Amino acid sequence: MVKKRLPKKVAKKIAKKRVPGSKNNKNSKNKKGPASGDVFSSLLELLRRTSTELPDDVQKVILAALEREEKNTTAEYAMKIIEDNIALAKAKSQPICQDTGTVLFYVSHPTNFDQIKFMDQARKAVVKATELGYLRQNSVNSVTGKSEPTNLGPGHPSFHFHQHKSPNVEVRAMLKGGGCENVGIQYSLPYTAIDAGRDLNGVRKVILDGVVKAQGQGCGPGILGICIGGDRGSGYLESKEQLLRKLDDKNPDSELAKLEQEIVQSCNKLMIGPMGFGGKTTLLGCKIGSQQRVPASFFVSISYMCWAFRRQGIQLSKNGGISKWLY
Ligand code: SF4
Repeated sequence: MVKKRLPKKVAKKIAKKRVPGSKNNKNSKNKKGPASGDVFSSLLELLRRTSTELPDDVQKVILAALEREEKNTTAEYAMKIIEDNIALAKAKSQPICQDTGTVLFYVSHPTNFDQIKFMDQARKAVVKATELGYLRQNSVNSVTGKSEPTNLGPGHPSFHFHQHKSPNVEVRAMLKGGGCENVGIQYSLPYTAIDAGRDLNGVRKVILDGVVKAQGQGCGPGILGICIGGDRGSGYLESKEQLLRKLDDKNPDSELAKLEQEIVQSCNKLMIGPMGFGGKTTLLGCKIGSQQRVPASFFVSISYMCWAFRRQGIQLSKNGGISKWLY
C-alpha cells in the first residue's frame, strides 16, 4: 500500500515524536530489548517491530534504488512515497501496510526446546498484537468465509521449527501480504511455452517469465525467494525460507550466487519499475536455494515478496527476554 507523500515539515515533526509506551524511536535499533522478560513479551515486541519497521538490509536497498531512479519520473515519485511510508510507520509504530499478511514464525532451537509451550505463547502474542493494531484482523475461515477477529485458526499463525546444535533459540517472524503471495508461481520443467528445459538456463527463463507475469501486481519492486527442485510442497517452503537470508549476503554456492546476480540485473533492465510504473527498479533482490528432486520432476518454485518486506528476528535469552536482534 502506498500512501500520499506528506509535506516534509509534517513528516519531520512526526519522525521526531516519540510514541508513548513504544520502544520505537531512533535509538531502538541499538536496544537489545528487555534482558529479563518472558517469551510472550518478546514475541509481542517481535511482531510489533516486524509490522512497523523494515529491517536495515531492506531499507538499504530501497534507498539505493531511490537514488538510481531518473529524477522527476513516476518511478522516482513511487520510490519516494515508499520511503516516506517506511519512515512514518516506524515513527508512529503503525503497520507499514494495511495488509499485515500471513504471520509466519521460523524457530531454530536446541534439542530440549518445548515447541508446544512456544506455540501457546506465540498465539497469545498474535492475539495481543491484533488487539493493539500491529496486526490487522486478517485471518479468514476458508470454508465459511468468516473473518477470525483473533487472527488464530487452523494453519495460522504458521510455525516452522528447525532443530540445531547451537544452545540458542532464534525466532524469525515474517508477514507475507496477499498481493505478493498471489503472484508467486511454480513451474514444472520442461516448460515448453517458453522453451525452458531442465537446466539452469531453463530455470533462468522461467524466473524471468514469473517476473514478467507479476508486473503491475504484487507491489513491486519485489524480492524473489526461489527453490530449484524439491517436490511441490517442499519447493514452496524452501522458496519462502530463502527470504530469511539477508539481502546483502552471498550464496555459498557460486553457481547460484551468479544466477542471483544475473536475475536481478536482467529484471532491472525490463523497465517494469516500482509498482509497474516503468523505471530501473523491478527487483530489489533474489535468493535461490536448491533441493534434491526425483528424476521425473523438476520444479522451480518462486515466492514473490513486495517492497513491504516485513521480517525481523530475535535471539531469546535463557529467561525468555530478547538478547539480540537478528536483522
Ligand atoms: S503486496 Fe505488500 S505492499 Fe502491496 S498491499 Fe500486499 S502487503 Fe501491502
